[in-house]
Amino acid sequence: MSVHETPDSFDEFCSRFASEESCVESLFRAKWPTGFVCPRCGFTAYYFISSRRLPLYECRSCRLQHSLIAGTIMEGSRTPLRLWFQAIYLHARPQSINALQLSKIIGVTYKTAWLICHKIRYGMSQAESGNLLKGCVHVSDSMYCKRLTPYFDWHPQEQALLVGSSLTSKGTIDQLKIKLQSKSQLKDKYDCPDPATFIRQNVEPSSVPTVVQAYLDQYCYYYNRPQRSVFGLLLTDSAIGRTITYPLLTRSRRSFRNTRSARIIASASALMG
Ligand SMILES: [Zn+2]
Repeated sequence: MSVHETPDSFDEFCSRFASEESCVESLFRAKWPTGFVCPRCGFTAYYFISSRRLPLYECRSCRLQHSLIAGTIMEGSRTPLRLWFQAIYLHARPQSINALQLSKIIGVTYKTAWLICHKIRYGMSQAESGNLLKGCVHVSDSMYCKRLTPYFDWHPQEQALLVGSSLTSKGTIDQLKIKLQSKSQLKDKYDCPDPATFIRQNVEPSSVPTVVQAYLDQYCYYYNRPQRSVFGLLLTDSAIGRTITYPLLTRSRRSFRNTRSARIIASASALMG
Protein backbone atom coordinates (compact mmCIF):
# COMPACT_ATOMS: atom_id res chain seq x y z
CA MET A 1 0.00 0.00 0.00
CA SER A 2 1.40 3.43 -0.94
CA VAL A 3 1.01 6.54 1.22
CA HIS A 4 -1.49 7.77 -1.38
CA GLU A 5 -3.80 4.88 -0.42
CA THR A 6 -4.35 6.04 3.13
CA PRO A 7 -6.62 3.94 5.35
CA ASP A 8 -9.97 5.56 6.15
CA SER A 9 -9.85 4.91 9.88
CA PHE A 10 -7.21 6.12 12.31
CA ASP A 11 -6.96 2.65 13.88
CA GLU A 12 -6.23 1.12 10.50
CA PHE A 13 -3.65 3.81 9.84
CA CYS A 14 -1.92 3.09 13.18
CA SER A 15 -1.79 -0.63 12.33
CA ARG A 16 -0.40 0.14 8.87
CA PHE A 17 2.37 2.33 10.37
CA ALA A 18 2.90 0.52 13.67
CA SER A 19 6.66 0.19 13.33
CA GLU A 20 9.42 2.73 12.74
CA GLU A 21 10.60 0.59 9.82
CA SER A 22 7.33 1.00 7.92
CA CYS A 23 7.50 4.77 8.49
CA VAL A 24 11.14 4.92 7.38
CA GLU A 25 10.24 3.14 4.16
CA SER A 26 7.35 5.51 3.36
CA LEU A 27 9.23 8.64 4.38
CA PHE A 28 12.14 7.60 2.16
CA ARG A 29 9.77 7.26 -0.82
CA ALA A 30 8.12 10.61 -0.03
CA LYS A 31 11.49 12.35 0.28
CA TRP A 32 13.16 10.72 -2.71
CA PRO A 33 10.37 9.50 -5.04
CA THR A 34 12.87 8.54 -7.75
CA GLY A 35 15.44 7.08 -5.32
CA PHE A 36 18.21 8.59 -3.18
CA VAL A 37 19.77 11.82 -4.47
CA CYS A 38 22.68 13.31 -2.52
CA PRO A 39 21.65 16.84 -1.46
CA ARG A 40 25.25 18.02 -1.86
CA CYS A 41 26.46 16.49 -5.13
CA GLY A 42 23.41 14.84 -6.68
CA PHE A 43 24.97 11.35 -6.73
CA THR A 44 22.40 8.56 -6.48
CA ALA A 45 24.35 5.67 -4.89
CA TYR A 46 24.65 5.43 -1.11
CA TYR A 47 25.72 3.32 1.85
CA PHE A 48 22.97 2.49 4.32
CA ILE A 49 24.00 3.02 7.96
CA SER A 50 21.52 1.47 10.40
CA SER A 51 23.33 1.84 13.71
CA ARG A 52 21.32 4.94 14.71
CA ARG A 53 17.67 5.29 15.83
CA LEU A 54 16.96 6.51 12.32
CA PRO A 55 19.07 5.31 9.38
CA LEU A 56 21.76 7.44 7.76
CA TYR A 57 22.42 7.50 4.04
CA GLU A 58 26.06 8.08 3.09
CA CYS A 59 26.73 9.34 -0.42
CA ARG A 60 29.16 7.04 -2.22
CA SER A 61 30.69 9.98 -4.06
CA CYS A 62 31.17 12.86 -1.58
CA ARG A 63 30.65 10.78 1.62
CA LEU A 64 28.03 13.17 3.04
CA GLN A 65 26.00 11.41 5.73
CA HIS A 66 22.37 12.40 5.45
CA SER A 67 19.67 11.66 8.01
CA LEU A 68 16.25 10.71 6.71
CA ILE A 69 14.59 13.58 8.59
CA ALA A 70 17.18 16.25 7.61
CA GLY A 71 15.54 18.90 5.48
CA THR A 72 12.03 17.85 6.58
CA ILE A 73 9.63 19.42 9.11
CA MET A 74 10.78 16.65 11.47
CA GLU A 75 14.45 17.64 11.40
CA GLY A 76 16.03 17.51 14.87
CA SER A 77 12.98 15.85 16.46
CA ARG A 78 13.35 12.94 18.89
CA THR A 79 9.68 11.99 18.58
CA PRO A 80 9.23 8.56 16.97
CA LEU A 81 8.31 8.67 13.30
CA ARG A 82 5.12 6.66 13.88
CA LEU A 83 3.83 9.47 16.14
CA TRP A 84 4.73 12.07 13.53
CA PHE A 85 2.88 9.98 10.96
CA GLN A 86 -0.18 9.83 13.22
CA ALA A 87 -0.07 13.60 13.71
CA ILE A 88 0.24 14.21 9.97
CA TYR A 89 -2.69 11.85 9.33
CA LEU A 90 -4.84 13.73 11.85
CA HIS A 91 -3.95 17.06 10.21
CA ALA A 92 -4.76 15.75 6.75
CA ARG A 93 -8.44 15.26 7.61
CA PRO A 94 -11.04 17.99 7.01
CA GLN A 95 -11.76 18.16 10.77
CA SER A 96 -9.20 20.36 12.50
CA ILE A 97 -7.25 19.19 15.51
CA ASN A 98 -5.60 21.22 18.25
CA ALA A 99 -2.47 20.54 20.30
CA LEU A 100 -4.39 19.39 23.39
CA GLN A 101 -6.37 16.81 21.41
CA LEU A 102 -3.23 15.68 19.60
CA SER A 103 -1.28 15.28 22.85
CA LYS A 104 -3.99 12.97 24.22
CA ILE A 105 -4.38 10.93 21.04
CA ILE A 106 -0.71 10.26 20.29
CA GLY A 107 0.47 10.29 23.92
CA VAL A 108 3.00 13.13 23.98
CA THR A 109 3.23 16.22 26.17
CA TYR A 110 1.18 19.28 25.27
CA LYS A 111 4.39 21.16 24.42
CA THR A 112 5.54 18.48 21.99
CA ALA A 113 2.08 18.27 20.42
CA TRP A 114 1.93 22.05 20.06
CA LEU A 115 5.28 22.06 18.28
CA ILE A 116 4.28 19.21 16.00
CA CYS A 117 1.03 21.02 15.07
CA HIS A 118 2.88 24.20 14.21
CA LYS A 119 5.55 22.41 12.21
CA ILE A 120 2.94 20.56 10.19
CA ARG A 121 1.04 23.79 9.52
CA TYR A 122 4.30 25.49 8.54
CA GLY A 123 4.86 22.73 6.03
CA MET A 124 1.37 23.36 4.66
CA SER A 125 2.09 27.08 4.39
CA GLN A 126 5.31 26.46 2.49
CA ALA A 127 3.50 24.19 0.06
CA GLU A 128 0.74 26.75 -0.36
CA SER A 129 3.18 29.61 -0.98
CA GLY A 130 4.46 27.85 -4.08
CA ASN A 131 0.94 27.22 -5.31
CA LEU A 132 -0.23 30.41 -7.03
CA LEU A 133 -3.70 31.16 -8.31
CA LYS A 134 -3.84 31.14 -12.09
CA GLY A 135 -6.31 31.55 -14.91
CA CYS A 136 -9.39 33.60 -14.10
CA VAL A 137 -8.89 34.90 -10.54
CA HIS A 138 -11.36 36.74 -8.31
CA VAL A 139 -10.28 38.67 -5.22
CA SER A 140 -12.57 40.13 -2.58
CA ASP A 141 -12.44 41.19 1.06
CA SER A 142 -14.06 39.32 3.90
CA MET A 143 -13.91 38.85 7.65
CA TYR A 144 -12.83 35.91 9.75
CA CYS A 145 -15.94 34.99 11.80
CA LYS A 146 -19.21 36.89 11.50
CA ARG A 147 -19.37 40.53 12.55
CA LEU A 148 -19.74 40.30 16.33
CA THR A 149 -20.75 43.91 16.90
CA PRO A 150 -22.37 46.58 14.69
CA TYR A 151 -19.71 49.13 15.70
CA PHE A 152 -16.87 50.48 13.53
CA ASP A 153 -14.20 49.39 16.05
CA TRP A 154 -12.82 45.89 15.74
CA HIS A 155 -13.94 43.18 18.12
CA PRO A 156 -10.79 41.23 19.13
CA GLN A 157 -12.06 38.11 17.36
CA GLU A 158 -12.88 39.90 14.09
CA GLN A 159 -10.07 39.67 11.54
CA ALA A 160 -9.77 41.28 8.11
CA LEU A 161 -9.23 38.91 5.19
CA LEU A 162 -8.59 38.96 1.49
CA VAL A 163 -9.96 35.96 -0.37
CA GLY A 164 -8.75 35.00 -3.84
CA SER A 165 -10.13 32.18 -5.93
CA SER A 166 -9.28 30.82 -9.34
CA LEU A 167 -12.20 29.47 -11.31
CA THR A 168 -12.70 26.43 -13.47
CA SER A 169 -14.09 26.79 -17.02
CA LYS A 170 -17.52 26.07 -15.51
CA GLY A 171 -17.21 29.00 -13.10
CA THR A 172 -16.79 26.93 -9.94
CA ILE A 173 -13.98 27.62 -7.47
CA ASP A 174 -10.82 25.75 -8.31
CA GLN A 175 -8.15 27.05 -5.92
CA LEU A 176 -8.51 29.29 -2.90
CA LYS A 177 -6.22 31.65 -1.00
CA ILE A 178 -7.27 33.30 2.25
CA LYS A 179 -4.85 35.75 3.84
CA LEU A 180 -5.16 37.69 7.08
CA GLN A 181 -4.77 41.43 6.63
CA SER A 182 -3.34 43.87 9.15
CA LYS A 183 -6.13 45.69 10.96
CA SER A 184 -3.75 48.60 11.69
CA GLN A 185 -3.77 49.53 8.00
CA LEU A 186 -7.55 49.94 7.96
CA LYS A 187 -9.59 52.95 9.04
CA ASP A 188 -12.23 50.73 10.65
CA LYS A 189 -13.69 47.29 10.21
CA TYR A 190 -15.78 48.38 7.21
CA ASP A 191 -12.67 49.55 5.32
CA CYS A 192 -11.25 47.27 2.58
CA PRO A 193 -7.63 46.04 2.55
CA ASP A 194 -5.41 47.01 -0.41
CA PRO A 195 -5.36 43.93 -2.71
CA ALA A 196 -2.13 44.84 -4.59
CA THR A 197 0.26 42.90 -2.32
CA PHE A 198 -2.13 39.96 -2.15
CA ILE A 199 -2.24 39.75 -5.96
CA ARG A 200 1.55 40.03 -6.27
CA GLN A 201 2.11 37.23 -3.75
CA ASN A 202 -0.71 34.85 -4.66
CA VAL A 203 -1.52 35.22 -8.34
CA GLU A 204 0.62 34.03 -11.24
CA PRO A 205 1.78 37.06 -13.25
CA SER A 206 0.81 35.38 -16.52
CA SER A 207 -2.80 34.82 -15.44
CA VAL A 208 -5.77 37.11 -16.06
CA PRO A 209 -6.80 38.48 -12.68
CA THR A 210 -10.25 40.04 -12.34
CA VAL A 211 -11.22 41.80 -9.14
CA VAL A 212 -14.85 42.17 -8.09
CA GLN A 213 -15.80 45.46 -9.76
CA ALA A 214 -17.56 46.96 -6.76
CA TYR A 215 -14.47 46.28 -4.71
CA LEU A 216 -12.19 47.87 -7.31
CA ASP A 217 -14.37 50.93 -7.51
CA GLN A 218 -14.35 51.25 -3.74
CA TYR A 219 -10.58 50.90 -3.67
CA CYS A 220 -10.19 53.60 -6.35
CA TYR A 221 -12.63 55.82 -4.54
CA TYR A 222 -10.48 55.86 -1.43
CA TYR A 223 -7.24 56.07 -3.46
CA ASN A 224 -8.39 59.11 -5.43
CA ARG A 225 -9.54 60.91 -2.31
CA PRO A 226 -6.51 60.97 0.00
CA GLN A 227 -8.23 63.22 2.56
CA ARG A 228 -8.32 61.88 6.07
CA SER A 229 -12.10 61.60 6.23
CA VAL A 230 -13.89 60.32 3.17
CA PHE A 231 -17.20 60.19 4.99
CA GLY A 232 -18.28 63.75 4.11
CA LEU A 233 -17.43 63.26 0.43
CA LEU A 234 -19.21 59.94 0.27
CA LEU A 235 -22.23 61.36 2.04
CA THR A 236 -22.36 64.15 -0.57
CA ASP A 237 -21.94 61.71 -3.44
CA SER A 238 -24.62 59.52 -1.92
CA ALA A 239 -26.93 62.49 -1.61
CA ILE A 240 -26.58 63.70 -5.23
CA GLY A 241 -26.17 60.33 -6.93
CA ARG A 242 -29.05 58.48 -8.52
CA THR A 243 -30.14 55.16 -7.07
CA ILE A 244 -29.82 51.82 -8.87
CA THR A 245 -32.36 49.02 -8.92
CA TYR A 246 -31.75 45.30 -8.36
CA PRO A 247 -32.39 44.38 -12.04
CA LEU A 248 -29.94 47.05 -13.17
CA LEU A 249 -27.33 45.85 -10.69
CA THR A 250 -27.62 42.25 -11.79
CA ARG A 251 -27.61 43.30 -15.46
CA SER A 252 -24.50 45.40 -14.95
CA ARG A 253 -22.84 42.34 -13.41
CA ARG A 254 -23.57 40.33 -16.55
CA SER A 255 -22.32 43.11 -18.82
CA PHE A 256 -19.22 43.43 -16.61
CA ARG A 257 -18.35 39.85 -17.45
CA ASN A 258 -18.81 40.37 -21.18
CA THR A 259 -18.05 43.87 -22.33
CA ARG A 260 -16.04 45.49 -19.58
CA SER A 261 -13.51 42.72 -19.05
CA ALA A 262 -10.73 44.59 -20.89
CA ARG A 263 -11.05 47.54 -18.51
CA ILE A 264 -11.06 45.25 -15.50
CA ILE A 265 -7.96 43.43 -16.70
CA ALA A 266 -6.23 46.79 -17.24
CA SER A 267 -7.17 47.90 -13.72
CA ALA A 268 -5.98 44.63 -12.18
CA SER A 269 -2.73 44.77 -14.19
CA ALA A 270 -2.10 48.26 -12.87
CA LEU A 271 -2.65 46.95 -9.33
CA MET A 272 -0.12 44.20 -9.93
CA GLY A 273 2.46 46.88 -10.80
ZN1 LIG B 1 27.25 13.44 -2.45
